[in-house]
Amino acid sequence: MNATIDHRDLGRDLGIFATDPLAGSGLPLWLPDGAVIRAELQRLAKDLAHRDGCLDVYSPVLGKRALFERSGHLAKFSDDMFPAMRLGEQDADDELVLRPANCPHHALIYAAASRSYRELPLRFNELAAMFRAERSGVVSGLSRVRQIHLDDTHVFCRPDQAGEEAARGLRAAIEAQRILGLPVDYVRLSMRDDSDAWLGSPEQWRGAEAALREAGRAVLEDAGLQLIEAPGEAAFYGPKFDLQVRDGRGHEESIATVQLDFNLPERFDLTYHGADGERHRPVMIHRGTVGSMERVVAALLERYQGRLPLWLAPVQVAVLPVSEAQDPAARSLVDSLRSNAIRAELRPDDSLGARVAEARRRRDHLIAVIGEREAAADAVQVTDVAAGHRETVPVKMLVDKAVEARDGRLHLVRWP
Ligand SMILES: [Zn+2]
Repeated sequence: MNATIDHRDLGRDLGIFATDPLAGSGLPLWLPDGAVIRAELQRLAKDLAHRDGCLDVYSPVLGKRALFERSGHLAKFSDDMFPAMRLGEQDADDELVLRPANCPHHALIYAAASRSYRELPLRFNELAAMFRAERSGVVSGLSRVRQIHLDDTHVFCRPDQAGEEAARGLRAAIEAQRILGLPVDYVRLSMRDDSDAWLGSPEQWRGAEAALREAGRAVLEDAGLQLIEAPGEAAFYGPKFDLQVRDGRGHEESIATVQLDFNLPERFDLTYHGADGERHRPVMIHRGTVGSMERVVAALLERYQGRLPLWLAPVQVAVLPVSEAQDPAARSLVDSLRSNAIRAELRPDDSLGARVAEARRRRDHLIAVIGEREAAADAVQVTDVAAGHRETVPVKMLVDKAVEARDGRLHLVRWP
């Protein structure tokens, strides 16, 4: 296999994103083709979130300093946060900070109404921006940035629902990686160990870990993945599932997490009214599904070396008439693709060889050539580089196959 090209080079050569020293490092600019990919990923994130019964919410990227004191972020993560902003001569209580996470806002959305046990679980989803004060020396491409756009869901549920909700989150995260074609090597159940570094009672932890273990097993059997228990790897505020990938160099990375949290509901005094008429504490679950737009696009560019599956490709079909005589047939094909919301481009200029080479360089997903013979037969010669396939097919079949691959978010177009 040839050496793989880094996502930064692919991003530049394919016009996905740019950086400009005047804008600041770690603050990439998404170019039009990058915006197409990101919009498709956002649509996927929303489809998966809505399928799981998530409700859309919006919250501001700025919050009062006190919000992040309450959440504990300032105590734990202040080194990774941008300095607070003070407006004029107001006192420090009015200082604003760029948020390092979306959870505190979502906790306040939960707290915005009185909640009953009968309406739980509540699941809030937002494609939200959050910030990391990375130093300019360490930022890089899309993989390490200062503003992160995360597909972020927070579930608020009763303790007896936590296992099922964690399983739902885990299933969605695995499904997202499967659709994207990104690998998952195994799932880690990150648990407490015998030290006293953990918030909450041992009984609370034992119950939550047992619920996760049971829920995880059922999901992973279906997915054909292994669940590996890792004592001591939990966050201090609750156990979690981590989707793990190993790279060729022995490094391991968590690409998605489903995190149980006993801490934020305490800190924000979140409650619901139980069947007994008393106030109870909900469990909060942080779940990532598609992940951050930046990290996923970097991973996709490298995984596919720029030749993204058709549903993600900025140009899904490049249409090349051999000569001017086929312009009407080519234009009619482009119209018919576009009327099916397929991203098609007509490329009439230059020699055919140069245009084919350019379409390959740009990783246009399908290359459709119309010569005299094809035009006469209402056909088109299609080259599908990803599938290693070239065939002359009726125009209608090309349109149908492109629509099928797009709607099914297929890794490859299914040729007969
Ligand atoms: Zn969260």
